[in-house]
Amino acid sequence: MVLIKTKSVCPECKKVIDAELYDKDGIVYMRKTCPEHGEFIERISDLNEFNKDLNYLDLLYEYIPSKDIPGCPYNCESCNMHQSPTVLGIIDVTNRCNLRCSYCFANAAVAGWLYEPELDIIKKQIDYLRNMNPPAPSVLFSGGEPTMREDFIDIVRYARDKKLFILVATNGYKIASSLEYTKKLAEAGPPTIYLSFDGLTDKSNKEKKNHLIIDKIIDNCKQAGIGIVLVPTILKGINDDQIWPIIKFATEHIDVIRGVNFQPISFCGRMSRDLREKERYTISDLGRDLEKQSNGIIKRRDWYPVPTVLPMTKLFESITGEKGIMFSSHPLCGSATYLFKDEDDKLIPFPEFVDVDRFIRIMDKYGDELEKSSKLSRSIKMLALIKDLFSTIDNDKKPHNLKIQNLLKEVILHPGDMDALTNFHLHTLFIGTMHFQDLYNLDLERLKYCTIHYITPQCTRIPFCAYNGDLGYREKVEQRNKKEYGKTNKG
Ligand code: SF4
Ligand code: SF4
Repeated sequence: MVLIKTKSVCPECKKVIDAELYDKDGIVYMRKTCPEHGEFIERISDLNEFNKDLNYLDLLYEYIPSKDIPGCPYNCESCNMHQSPTVLGIIDVTNRCNLRCSYCFANAAVAGWLYEPELDIIKKQIDYLRNMNPPAPSVLFSGGEPTMREDFIDIVRYARDKKLFILVATNGYKIASSLEYTKKLAEAGPPTIYLSFDGLTDKSNKEKKNHLIIDKIIDNCKQAGIGIVLVPTILKGINDDQIWPIIKFATEHIDVIRGVNFQPISFCGRMSRDLREKERYTISDLGRDLEKQSNGIIKRRDWYPVPTVLPMTKLFESITGEKGIMFSSHPLCGSATYLFKDEDDKLIPFPEFVDVDRFIRIMDKYGDELEKSSKLSRSIKMLALIKDLFSTIDNDKKPHNLKIQNLLKEVILHPGDMDALTNFHLHTLFIGTMHFQDLYNLDLERLKYCTIHYITPQCTRIPFCAYNGDLGYREKVEQRNKKEYGKTNKG
C-alpha cells in the first residue's frame, strides 16, 4: 500500500524523480523509477515506527507537505525557501586527520588537497551563524580532526565569545595525549566533546581503536570539566552488537558522558540492491537490536522522533518571551529517549514512568494558550499546566530519587534557573539516533526540514544530507577553497 508520495533523485544520474513510500509485510520501502536508469527500491523503516513518527508531523510549524521548492536539492547555497532554521551549524576547520577511517564521509587526508579555511574566514562563518534569523544556537567544529589545527583553541574561544553552544567532533587522541591541552580547551569553551566511538571491542572499533584510550579521554575530560557525547557509526555485522554495551558503558561514566548519539552508516557511491539490503541499517533495526541486547530495559516504544521537543520550545517561548531552539527536523530523520540512573544503579527509560505522548500534547496546548493569555489568566493557566503535567507521571514506577514534580515546577516557574536542571543531568543519559540520507533513500521532504547545516567559507549554508549525500556539494566547496597540500594554518 502506498503511504506517502514524495520526491527523491536517481542514484545514477541524480535527476529529481517522483518517489513513493509503501508498506509490504510491515516494512516500509521507498520506490522510485528513473526513465533512463530504471527502478530503485530501498528499505526505510518498520511500519510501526513509521506510523508513530508521522503522528508527530503536525508538531512542525507550518508543515506544508510536498511543497515544491524550485531547484531543490541543487539550489541550497542561494535558497531562501528552506523550511527549518539552523539548529546546529557545522564548520569543517580542516580535512587533515591523524587517522584514516575507510567510511569517513569527509574523506579526510586522502582527498589529495588541503581544506583548511584561515582563522579570519572561520570567524566570519561563526558570525554568520549568530547573525541568522533566528540566530543558530550551536556550532559543531568538524573535519578531519579539528584538534590538528594549531589555532583551534582560538577558534573555540571566538565561538564561546559569540555565545554559541560548542561541540567538537573528534577521535579523542589529542585529548587523551594531553591533560594540559584538554584544560586549555575547557578554558576557551568549554565545548562538549562529540567523540566518534564505534565500540568497546577490537572487532567493533578496528579503525579508530580509541576504545584503547577511552579511560584516558574520560579522565582528562573529567579533570578539565568537559562533557562527552559518544557518537558511534553503526555498521551492520561490524558493531551492531555494541549498542547496549556502549550505552551501559556511558551510564558507568554518567558524570562525564552526557549522551550517546548513534549514526547508522549511509552509503557512498554505486551499490547493488543485494549489497544495500545486506548492509542497510535503519532506526527501526537499532530500536529492535537495543531492546534485545538490553533484555527489554529500553524498548522500541521508548523512542520518540526529534520534533517532539518542539512543544517544549513553544512553551518556553510563551513563558519567557525569548526565542527557543527549534528542533524542527522531519520526524523520520531521528529519534531519542532519556535514561535515568537511580540510586541503586537501576536504569529506567523516562517513557517507563511518563506518558510521553500526553506530556507532549499538554505542552503543545498550553504553549498556544499561554501566548494568548492576559497576565491574570496566565498565572491560573501555569498552575493548571503543572497539574496536568503531574498527571502524566506514574508515581509507582518513577525512580525514588527523581524529584520530577519539583523539577517540573522549577523549570516552569523559574525557567532561567539552571541549578535544578544541572542536578537532573547528572543522573540522566540522552540516547539519540539520526539516520543520515544517501542517494538511495533520499527524501526531499526530509531534506527541506533539515536543521543541521554546513556553513561554507563563503557564508552560505547547505543541509547536512545534501552536503555529504553524493550530490556534489562537498567536493564543490572543498575544490573552491582548497589549498596546496602541505601548507597548513599556523594560527
Ligand atoms: S534542501 Fe533546503 S536549502 Fe536546499 S534547495 Fe531544498 S529547500 Fe533549499
Ligand atoms: S542531517 Fe539528514 S537526517 Fe539529519 S535532519 Fe538533516 S536531512 Fe534529516
